[in-house]
Amino acid sequence: MPPSHDDWSTRHSVQATARRTAALVNSLAEERPEPAAIAEVLLAHGEPAPLELSAEDVAAMRAAAVRLREVFAAADTDRAASVLDSLLREGTGRIRLSSHDGTSPWHPHLDSDDDAPWGEWFLASSCMALTVLIWDRQRPPGGVCASPSCRAVFLTLGSGSERRYCSRRCATRERVAAHRRARA
Ligand SMILES: [Zn+2]
Repeated sequence: MPPSHDDWSTRHSVQATARRTAALVNSLAEERPEPAAIAEVLLAHGEPAPLELSAEDVAAMRAAAVRLREVFAAADTDRAASVLDSLLREGTGRIRLSSHDGTSPWHPHLDSDDDAPWGEWFLASSCMALTVLIWDRQRPPGGVCASPSCRAVFLTLGSGSERRYCSRRCATRERVAAHRRARA
């Protein structure tokens, strides 16, 4: 019996994919990301084991991460939408539906095939999630941490005011540094 739609709301699945995108963009920003480290991020975000990544896969994913970072770096919703629209035009295939041979509910894909290479899959699944987030929320899907020593990307899924930092840790560190500068 195929899984019911209750197990798999669209919003939940889009947010989970977007979280995976942010985590991968950050892990792939390392100087030389290890395939094993990237595989661990994928497993932590629900990709089924066993999972084999080559150095070429990681290089292709890294190229995709550089493009995806531009969406997070966009200053406002219009800019995020326009950057993402370019990515959809240049980097993804046509929309298609897949149920992965009946193992999941029908859902849209922008990669060419269920067995598409990792780099293509990463860019396409990320573009799909970020597109739906902009559509659903009419605001930028995330941002880049304002801490110069961090620059991690983050998602803004809550409804709160605009965020500048990826984490409480970065916000505190920068606040302390600003205090020190003011007193000096
Ligand atoms: Zn940060």
